[in-house]
Amino acid sequence: MDTKTAIENLDRVIAEVETARLSVSHHHIVKIIGISKYSTAQDIEKLYEAGQRAFGENKVQDLKQKSETLEEFPLEWHFVGRLQKNKINNLIDLNPTLMQSLDSLELAQELQKKLESKSKNMSCLLQINSAYEESKTGILPEDAISTYKTILDTCPNIKLKGVMSIGAHVEDEEAIIKSFKTTHAIFKELEPLGAIYCSMGMSNDYELAIKCGSNMIRVGSALFK
Ligand SMILES: *Cc1c(COP(=O)(O)O)cnc(C)c1O
Repeated sequence: MDTKTAIENLDRVIAEVETARLSVSHHHIVKIIGISKYSTAQDIEKLYEAGQRAFGENKVQDLKQKSETLEEFPLEWHFVGRLQKNKINNLIDLNPTLMQSLDSLELAQELQKKLESKSKNMSCLLQINSAYEESKTGILPEDAISTYKTILDTCPNIKLKGVMSIGAHVEDEEAIIKSFKTTHAIFKELEPLGAIYCSMGMSNDYELAIKCGSNMIRVGSALFK
């Protein structure tokens, strides 16, 4: 990807985000995370030059490699993938800005143990499987509030900041909207408990997600094409 392409891609996404967010409210601010999992450190650098600062990876090894390569830049790094138990320590050592894919109570408890033993904290989002898709991990909507509270009560080193979900993987727009609305309703219920991020929307559906209340979008292919 050359500099011109990076600027064009970012400008297009920013313009579309702007229209979508203003249709909600002038005060509805949306944070864009560039998901760089299919891209190189060089591409990330091009987007950095265009103004993008927050990036996300779905594999601990890639997060390590790219964040170390780009150490000199003031970037923030998010983790958005399925976290295997044997990679927890590696992720903790990388100090991610936000771990968005806390997808079970069991993983939370495992993470808590390891954070405690290293005297570290980690900011996380609880991943909700709001489309009820078997291929996806995450907490089912009906269990989301109680699981969130249990983590707040029993995992002091995990700093919960909200929820994340992946929209329904279907053509039917109504079904996608329904899954976003489900996640957003959970987010609203969790706001009094300190939730600040409702992370939903990817390259194909971020405008829809923002209109359903998303304030954090995870954009890969639309930025890195
Ligand atoms: C890959 C990925 C994205 C970005 O997907 P695009 O469709 O390329 O925008 C967002 N969120 C998660 C969890 C991902 O794994």
